[in-house]
Amino acid sequence: MSHKTDIEIAREAHKRPIQEIGAKLGIGSDDLLPYGHDKAKISQSFIDSVQGRDNGKLILVTAINPTPAGEGKTTTTVGLGDGLNAIGKKAAVCIREASLGPNFGMKGGAAGGGYAQIIPMEEMNLHFTGDFHAITSAHNLLSAMIDNHIYWGNELEIDERRITWRRVMDMNDRALRDNVVGLGGVANGFARQTGFDITVASEVMAILCLADGLEDLQKRLGAMIVAYRRDRTPVYARDLKADGAMTVLLRDAMQPNLVQTLENNPALVHGGPFANIAHGCNSVIATKTALKCADYVVTEAGFGADLGAEKFMNIKCRKAGLAPAAVVVVATVRAMKMNGGVAKADLGSENVEAVQAGCPNLGRHIENLKSFGVPVVVAINHFVTDTEAEVQAVKDYVKTQGSEAILCQHWAKGSEGTKELATRVAEIADADMANFAPLYGDDMPLFEKIETIARRIYRADEVLADKKVRDQLREWEAAGYGELPVCMAKTQYSFSTDPNLRGAPIGHSVPIREVRLSAGAGFVVVICGEIMTMPGLPRNPAAENIRINEEGLVEGLF
Ligand code: ADP
Ligand code: MG
Repeated sequence: MSHKTDIEIAREAHKRPIQEIGAKLGIGSDDLLPYGHDKAKISQSFIDSVQGRDNGKLILVTAINPTPAGEGKTTTTVGLGDGLNAIGKKAAVCIREASLGPNFGMKGGAAGGGYAQIIPMEEMNLHFTGDFHAITSAHNLLSAMIDNHIYWGNELEIDERRITWRRVMDMNDRALRDNVVGLGGVANGFARQTGFDITVASEVMAILCLADGLEDLQKRLGAMIVAYRRDRTPVYARDLKADGAMTVLLRDAMQPNLVQTLENNPALVHGGPFANIAHGCNSVIATKTALKCADYVVTEAGFGADLGAEKFMNIKCRKAGLAPAAVVVVATVRAMKMNGGVAKADLGSENVEAVQAGCPNLGRHIENLKSFGVPVVVAINHFVTDTEAEVQAVKDYVKTQGSEAILCQHWAKGSEGTKELATRVAEIADADMANFAPLYGDDMPLFEKIETIARRIYRADEVLADKKVRDQLREWEAAGYGELPVCMAKTQYSFSTDPNLRGAPIGHSVPIREVRLSAGAGFVVVICGEIMTMPGLPRNPAAENIRINEEGLVEGLF
């Protein structure tokens, strides 16, 4: 059977003018700042005007540990949003924007897939409304101001060896990871070693996604630590007087983007922080605005539930005062098989035992999510190769875990394939069954916060950290940062820090390599293992196949 590609399906969509989509959320044309015919930013004055309203129900879509087989969180988020609208509910979807790096690297866009997509998908996957450009510019303005400050005499006494602020760009380019700037003589400043990260790894991105308005944005930007002095005291962005100009560059980017699904339902696509060194979900301002305008808001957290959902709950919800009414865990038969030990090449043939062997990975995520006090439903994202017996095996297993699994066929059928899930999720959300609480309190010492996540989510026996790391955490506590949540950066492929340990491993330990303070974003990043903040391109990047064809259409973008 041959299928249409995502881009072919997206191109055939019957898009409605963005004003019509805004009207579905009660946003008038005056409050939409159109970027062409089918994208618009939602005005700050509209956002201000709805603050007194009640919130709709927030539904989080998360997943089992990812495998190369693909899980489909975004696809399911979009499918569930359309499903809710199809059964007569007023629902909106909130997801992240796309980064150019992965688009031109590995195949796979950020707009969902099949008949559950956000459109216009080409724009969304390319320059969209320029938010990432604005973030890149704001970040690099600060970089330029640091080197300029040193050039003109370094009044702040910045230790050039201890500048932590790097530069960013939205591209996978490993050649930029480490470099020396300021070469070429006196006129070019002082030579020093630094490097580039990808834009989505910028603290500015994390801040844009956590700030609740422009004032908060500027305060957080100013609070970022950019360097240290010889006496190890921090230098903040506000010391360089960069926070005002950065906020100006980000003013439009702070407003959420409205687009539509293939079925013409509203979708807010805004922000896109890395899911490892940052918290990996769309902006707080988009989620909060959607909750004021829709009865149900479906949103996604990056990676598997051990990272993405944990940070959604412990960082985003805690900081923004949000509480999910229900959580949907996306599982696939293929991923269960891979967790059960089957190689990617052998996924095509039926293997019920392997599905069963992989299910404990799903079971642990269900149990973990319930520990946040939220009801859990499993969405089995159907692939055409799945057999009935394999699907039944997942359903049977989930029943033994005290939850239910619902087969979803949105990728092939759109909302028709998620009506059952939508009905169930709406029932659960309406029943107000959730009693949400983050996993740890603000006042718990930082190291204990890490141990709590390691023990209760990863099911590790212990956290390993040398004296340097422990001392650093205590130093930050003494400096007033002890109230912050921790942002775990570990492999997405396993509950453990070993990407090859699939399933539901026990008896492992979590070694901490390094801790970093994101003082503006408001979390302590805990790095366990190799974490790449500037990805590289694969041997055959997707870019090789992307082109404009004879009809003037983009080809090869998924
Ligand atoms: P995630 O958000 O978990 O990273 P996506 O929803 O972006 O995953 O999906 C990743 C890729 O898998 C997309 O290209 C999408 O088209 C594809 N995909 C998702 N669900 C299915 C499915 N049921 N059948 C086939 N392909 C799918
Ligand atoms: Mg996704």
